[in-house]
Amino acid sequence: LGTDEWKRCFSVLDGIGIRKAAILGGEPTIVPGIERIVGFILKETRIDLSIVTNSTANMEVLENLVAVGLKRYSTSVDSVIGEGYDSYSSVKSNKAILALIRVKALGIESLTGYLVLNKKSISQVPQVVETLNSLGVWTYVIPFHHGPHDFWENRSQTDMNAFTEEDTDRIADLSQQLLKMKADGIKIANGVSYLEQMRTYAVGLNWHCFDSTSEIRIDADGTLMCCNDIRGKHSSAYSVFDLAESGGLEKFQDERSKDAINCPGCYWPSHYHAAEARISAIAGGGTWSDAR
Ligand code: SF4
Repeated sequence: LGTDEWKRCFSVLDGIGIRKAAILGGEPTIVPGIERIVGFILKETRIDLSIVTNSTANMEVLENLVAVGLKRYSTSVDSVIGEGYDSYSSVKSNKAILALIRVKALGIESLTGYLVLNKKSISQVPQVVETLNSLGVWTYVIPFHHGPHDFWENRSQTDMNAFTEEDTDRIADLSQQLLKMKADGIKIANGVSYLEQMRTYAVGLNWHCFDSTSEIRIDADGTLMCCNDIRGKHSSAYSVFDLAESGGLEKFQDERSKDAINCPGCYWPSHYHAAEARISAIAGGGTWSDAR
């Protein structure tokens, strides 16, 4: 979408009650007009915004984003001792640490490192968390491995980075370690129940979202997606602008569930946390929209 269409997109989201959004990619900081889009969202809507980048942005873009009011910055950090889970992740991680230090100096206080957890990265996780914490940065642990040919739809259980049953004890140990670190005040953004359930779902990535997730994924052309992993035959027939119509969100959620129902699962923390928030809003007498 172009700049004006993105502005319209975020006006639609604001209108249907969305209060938190993250712009991610690909790489959002190379989108022409990103500063104008971010400035619009922060000034003209009620949406609390973060940007998720791979830290390849040049400093001028980051300075411009801070100048228009950006307060939250997230980036991928998979390793701090040289060897990432692949060669690209090492390069990204080194750049990310430098970017986090620079962005903090610009005045952004809400900083998060997205840490991919898989068979290759597991041994480094506590060290990455400690390092980020020492910089005042939250860690968000994301269990993930690719599908065939690096494709993100239908992950492969035979991928070399996928956890297997033999990793269960290591995952359980890591889960305990992260829970203790979190209890000790170390900045870990995942919720307690998510960390507790990691031993159950990290092998096989077979947690399942609700029929109607609280999270809406919008592709670069405004098409709605089933979720991070799945474009979805039913979901992708909708665009974000359809949500502006009366009952549009509910119609989309119904169609999305037809795509989700056939999925073998995942352990995306954002979907897990959204489901948890929704459950607690409903249990506390709230409405579905309270959990959006
Ligand atoms: S379980 Fe839900 S959120 Fe996870 S990959 Fe499947 S459809 Fe997407």
